[in-house]
Amino acid sequence: MSTVTLTIENAIAFITINNPPINATSHSVRSGLVDALDQIDGNDDIRAAILICEGKTFIAGADVSEFGQPPKPPILPDVIKRLEAATKPVIAAIHGHALGGGLEVALGCQYRIADSKAKLGLPEVNLGLIPGAGGTIRLPRLVPVTEAVSMITSGKPVSATKANEIGLLDAIAHGELIDAACDFAQTILDGEMPKPLLLRDPVSVPSTDEWDDITVATKKKARGQTAPLAAISAIRTGIEQGPDAGLAFEREKFIELRDSDQSKALRHIFFAERSVAKLPELKGVAPNPLHQIGVIGGGIMGAGIATASLLAGFDVTIIERDDAACANGRATVEKHLSGSLTRGLISQDRFDALMASLTTSTDYAALADADLVVEAVFEDMAVKHDVFGKLSLHCKADAVLASNTSYLDINDIASRCINPKRVIGLHFFSPAHIMKLLEVVRTDKADAKSLATAFDFARALGKIAVPCGVCDGFIGNRIMSAYRKHCEYMLEDGALPHQIDAAMVEFGFPMGLFAMQDMAGLEISWATRKRLAPFRDPSERYVALGDYLCEMDRFGKKNGLGWYRYDENGKAQPDPEVDALVIAESEKKGITRRDFNSTEIMDVILTAMRNEGDKILSEGIANSADAIDVVMINGYGFPRHKGGPMFMTAKKD
Ligand code: NAD
Repeated sequence: MSTVTLTIENAIAFITINNPPINATSHSVRSGLVDALDQIDGNDDIRAAILICEGKTFIAGADVSEFGQPPKPPILPDVIKRLEAATKPVIAAIHGHALGGGLEVALGCQYRIADSKAKLGLPEVNLGLIPGAGGTIRLPRLVPVTEAVSMITSGKPVSATKANEIGLLDAIAHGELIDAACDFAQTILDGEMPKPLLLRDPVSVPSTDEWDDITVATKKKARGQTAPLAAISAIRTGIEQGPDAGLAFEREKFIELRDSDQSKALRHIFFAERSVAKLPELKGVAPNPLHQIGVIGGGIMGAGIATASLLAGFDVTIIERDDAACANGRATVEKHLSGSLTRGLISQDRFDALMASLTTSTDYAALADADLVVEAVFEDMAVKHDVFGKLSLHCKADAVLASNTSYLDINDIASRCINPKRVIGLHFFSPAHIMKLLEVVRTDKADAKSLATAFDFARALGKIAVPCGVCDGFIGNRIMSAYRKHCEYMLEDGALPHQIDAAMVEFGFPMGLFAMQDMAGLEISWATRKRLAPFRDPSERYVALGDYLCEMDRFGKKNGLGWYRYDENGKAQPDPEVDALVIAESEKKGITRRDFNSTEIMDVILTAMRNEGDKILSEGIANSADAIDVVMINGYGFPRHKGGPMFMTAKKD
């Protein structure tokens, strides 16, 4: 069946694209569109056309199967020029998403109408690219340049309401989109044909100073990514030197970026994130239906997990130790949801409904109908055993029982359950209602159905679920522990905490390791080290600097002193007292200190990540190197445009 069909009704032509799943701008769609436009131009009975898509969405991007192949004409820029040259007005009728080439096609149409739930965007920067079919040139001729810059450099789509406000849409359809598009067509039939966007003046023209401000702000947000800055140059060229120069510049930059390391890294992680949870052994395994979620413990993690579950539409029951802890858990969930309300992400009605879907109790009998339970109590094996013993007694036989433990052995936890087959790990990241990453831990005895249910739950929560095996720290914490150890060695060997942090920030991490530790608080890991001290291998190198800080009551940012000294605004300042402590420790151990530059520091960190990653792979803890990259990027601040530690350090042929 053809991907583009043309039908005519009452002098209106309907160009319908049917290219599931996202109506991508594949070759057949591009050539089908040109054919349809030729037919419309040659038919005097037709007075206007409506471009509409079948299925869940308008054109939501390019055809990934054509990536890396020589472009087959007609190429998208030419199809869009053909649309602009149409002799009858074409109305893009948008539902779902108009993204990338999809929005560029809509910009080639004479009018745009969308249903109220539609989203419109140019997300190319997310793949290290800029729009390659005129988006940077046409958009600022329809919307104010600040809006165009924001859409193109952030890659974030805008809602139909916002699109209408800024002039990207001519109308919003209330009711059936197709009916609204037909009604709209009637209002423009006798009007003049609008000028193609390329022939229009930009909506606004920034001054040199304004361009400088835009560039500085974009550079700050881009944190080392080249595509957002290239997008600014393309937009500016199109505005200052005219559309032809702009289009040529955009194309040249697009091709240059497509072949860049950053784009390769971003495409790698894009595909890795989409494939990481696809396990062949779970193909065809039906998950259990999920309605009610239980959460044990309403502390930092439990409240976050409960919030995420409520937002995904589940009924949630939190079990806590006493009424006061129940009230605390409820109050934390309420605070999270109030944040969503204030930011306009949910309505007051939705907020009320979500709070009504939350119950708290001290009685495990309240979990009799729970389909999946996540335990998030204190990190203590005795407490976890107690909780899982109770869950075994009170939950349905097929309820999936998950632990959010960071480090404890979930096989051990499962061993005390009546049915260990349904016990798994669900390792969320803090704040659990915001962080996208979720490590799904396969215990030795977990059955396929429990795992399939866990992945289904993750999908409902909108998480990126990464399967992993049981070990100390799973994928992410294990790699972090490994590179932390090497950072501590570097302290004794000659680096200072702020030098290591500066190298990490320069590399693209949002913050360095020591600043991050200060933020999390130093006392928890101190307690763990003290607990594990009797089991430590005495022959292994041990760096005691973190212990000294805690002994000096330096617990991190919250008490103003940690690896750094914090000023009255909470800003970290390198502390000479800490530097002296570090240097004294080297002397005490008889280590001759040497200088480390940023490149050397990052070499040490990346090598430590790579080596631990290789061990994790050889032990079968991670299914693939891609899984490790997905974890480090989504949970540990590894810069996305570098593709992850395994991608970056892979031997290239
Ligand atoms: P927390 O101290 O903030 O919360 C623990 C909650 O569990 C408390 O509210 C406590 O009252 C409750 N609790 C304790 N024993 C209980 C019992 N027997 N029955 C019911 N409730 C009980 O701790 P947290 O930071 O939320 O961590 C919880 C778990 O999540 C730990 O296993 C931790 O390792 C893991 N985790 C924490 C983080 C993090 O960043 N905080 C990240 C990932 C995983």
